[in-house]
Amino acid sequence: MSGTPIGPKPTPAAVRSPVSRKAQQFTESVIREMTRLALEHNAVNLAQGFPDFAAPEEVKEAAVRAIRADINQYAITWGAREFRRAVAERFRDDTGLEVDPEREITVCCGATETMIASLLAIVDPGEEVVVFEPYYENYGPDAIICGAVPRYVRLRPPDWTFDPQELAAAFTDRTRAVILNTPNNPTGKVFTHAELELIAEQCFRTNAYAITDEIYECLVYDGFRHISLATLPGMRERTITINALSKTYSVTGWRVGYAIAPPEVTNAIRKMHDFLTVGAAAPLQEAGATALRLPQTYYQKLCENYRMRRDRMLAGLDRVGFRCFQPHGAYYIMTDVSAFGFSNDVEFARYLVREIGVAVVPGSSFYRDPALGAQQVRFAFCKTEATLDEALRRLAKLHA
Ligand code: GLN
Repeated sequence: MSGTPIGPKPTPAAVRSPVSRKAQQFTESVIREMTRLALEHNAVNLAQGFPDFAAPEEVKEAAVRAIRADINQYAITWGAREFRRAVAERFRDDTGLEVDPEREITVCCGATETMIASLLAIVDPGEEVVVFEPYYENYGPDAIICGAVPRYVRLRPPDWTFDPQELAAAFTDRTRAVILNTPNNPTGKVFTHAELELIAEQCFRTNAYAITDEIYECLVYDGFRHISLATLPGMRERTITINALSKTYSVTGWRVGYAIAPPEVTNAIRKMHDFLTVGAAAPLQEAGATALRLPQTYYQKLCENYRMRRDRMLAGLDRVGFRCFQPHGAYYIMTDVSAFGFSNDVEFARYLVREIGVAVVPGSSFYRDPALGAQQVRFAFCKTEATLDEALRRLAKLHA
């Protein structure tokens, strides 16, 4: 091992705090905290985005088969061969891009580890990472963990559009990467081709990478279309495309995600991943190969079911007095809650979980300045109709 130490000077032992400076800079996830509160108060959990219905039978069977076949030891650290092949096939079918599963794919423990391994692979401390705000809360701590300085670009309601000039100003000569989550959590925004072109233009101008979190790619409504940034001319060479089994196959607890990136970048991601976690669960990667090869009808049905759940929730929330920002993708609804007269989102979310019996995520957890989300909360609608109806029945007790 070699190399010079990176980062600021260590604090002298006598004045050292018990935990690292990085650990002091962020709190536990508000989303996961809300799940704990939901359990404590026996509330309907529309906070954390995980389905409360079964995964596809053939995918579960494939996992059982893999364990019975004694696929119980480490897979290749960067991913089981057959799973990587299936990833490459699907990516080709979805995007028309040919990628080499031996040199351009890394399998990690969920999109979460894939994102942090990717950032660690390309970002040096002090370099900047552009993030659209509101943003999935992990990206904040992710930036801190790898020493990056986040630069935010606002998405403005009701359509969550951004100002191209603000985007251009966020990209500087210190920019290393932009994180793009489309379809977007928490807003449900699906970035258009024209918007992706603007982002690509900035990547070229500043020689930056794009890291795309495309975990909701199959959940797109209202005639919108998911576009992978890697398909834009010249972007394949500078994009890390991240995805996972979690949302598409309703297996958020399996923790199987992957990154598709050019060989040199993949090498670096593989090293980070290897020393972070060694590998994702081997039998579940086998099952993942089965999942990725499900027929087109599976995806159509999945999407149509989610659209129905969305519409049910939009109508129900509207009746109770929430102002909904209609999502065109993913499985969340951001709402404006000013009609209820609470001083802020955290107070309102606490009231909802304790007194009404419904858990949501306070809007402020998606913004760096809590004031921006102070009158917003996020609902997840990845639940059975019965669960959604029970939540709506409870919410009817609210008075706008
Ligand atoms: N992505 C999901 C959400 O936003 C789950 C987050 C998590 O806890 N990993 O709710």
